[in-house]
Amino acid sequence: MAYTGTEAGFQDWLTAFRPRALAAGLAPSTLDALEGLGFDPAVVDKDRNQSEFTKPIWTYLDSAASDDRIAAGEKALARHRALFDRLEAAYGVDREVVAAIWGLESAYGTFRGDIPTLQALASLAYDGRRGAFFEAQLIEALKIVQDRHIPAERMRGSWAGAMGHTQFMPSSFWTFAVDFDGDGRRDIWGDDPTDALASAAAYLSKSGWTKGMPWGVEVTLPEGFDYAQTSERVRKPVAEWQAMGVRLADGGALPDHGLSSVLLPAGHQGVAFLICANFQVIETYNKADAYVIAVGHLADRLKGGGPIRASWPREDRALTREERVELQRLLTAAGFDAGGVDGLMGPKTIAAVRAWQMAQGLVPDGYANPALLARLR
Ligand code: CA
Repeated sequence: MAYTGTEAGFQDWLTAFRPRALAAGLAPSTLDALEGLGFDPAVVDKDRNQSEFTKPIWTYLDSAASDDRIAAGEKALARHRALFDRLEAAYGVDREVVAAIWGLESAYGTFRGDIPTLQALASLAYDGRRGAFFEAQLIEALKIVQDRHIPAERMRGSWAGAMGHTQFMPSSFWTFAVDFDGDGRRDIWGDDPTDALASAAAYLSKSGWTKGMPWGVEVTLPEGFDYAQTSERVRKPVAEWQAMGVRLADGGALPDHGLSSVLLPAGHQGVAFLICANFQVIETYNKADAYVIAVGHLADRLKGGGPIRASWPREDRALTREERVELQRLLTAAGFDAGGVDGLMGPKTIAAVRAWQMAQGLVPDGYANPALLARLR
């Protein structure tokens, strides 16, 4: 899909935006930061095309928990040991999970993004596909400049407005960022990661992190297991899972961290996890299962844990957006409510896949791959 924006249209949009920014409480002098902004079609292109690129979870994990990223994380933990000691004491969040988020969001501060945030947000707000969201973020970003946390020209990040070491959106900045070094500014952008790492720890703490609880553990499922139970929505006491034959992948009894779910990110031929409440805490940062598992697994590796034991169905590939739309259309036509035809694999689509699998006498793991789509056709 090609964008239709122009520089002239963008400047008109900025002019119309000013009174709305003033009405939102920004000072006229703060809006000087909008002078000289130009339309950036590249960020709009990225926003419109991002859903086309879907990596399978194993490809994502190979990179997220690569040997290089583990080694760099161990070094970062050692280099900032005193800071991590203070963060654990202040926020009660395990240091390895904070380090893992840092590692995934910016390769431990190496790639914090150098796209001017105000220009990116204004371009996306003008484009309008998610205009209201990005305009609200632009106003929050201008408030950050107004309160002198960072000069506008140093406010940089990724194309979609995520900023600094831990890639906070402007609204997350206001909810979670902290001034941990006490200089009066919450600096999540600079070379010194103190405020940024404290902000990530504060984010997890405020979102309900329980120290010492895993995000999840790798498990094995017994023969004859009821795969209809493998859903983040099915939560049971650990004793029940234990009674159903679920075991740690290395053979031991399951650790009891309260209500847990069995999650199969790539169906019954892939890896199985028992996930705990901290999984949902990481989800508040980014709700993609692959992201949450990557953060959790990288944190486990930084704690000295080993690689995932079971194997992934690496001969598979992820469905494209067009294929996901086709899947939803076929399920709906067959009488299984996929919750619409939007190309997103939400809970309703997964439930419809499961119901269809059950009706076909297949393993109801809710996993949709090209083979399943071919059977539906
Ligand atoms: Ca500070």
